[in-house]
Amino acid sequence: MKCKCGKTLSTVQAPNDVQLHVYTDKEWDDIINMGDTIDVLTIPDPEKEVWRCIHCDRIYVFNEDNTVSKVYIVEES
Ligand SMILES: [Zn+2]
Repeated sequence: MKCKCGKTLSTVQAPNDVQLHVYTDKEWDDIINMGDTIDVLTIPDPEKEVWRCIHCDRIYVFNEDNTVSKVYIVEES
């Protein structure tokens, strides 16, 4: 995917610095209370996929069908 800054974002490499695993505190609380022990492989994927551009720090939030839902840009100060 091409970021609005012109750089290409890719999550083909794993691990990468682009994909963020974002949970709300409530979602995370539900996950860690699922059982006595947490198997990392059973941790569900976050509801929304979130990418961060490593060049300009824009944040992309995706819909379930992989279309971009929201784009956040760093505010100039
Ligand atoms: Zn960018």
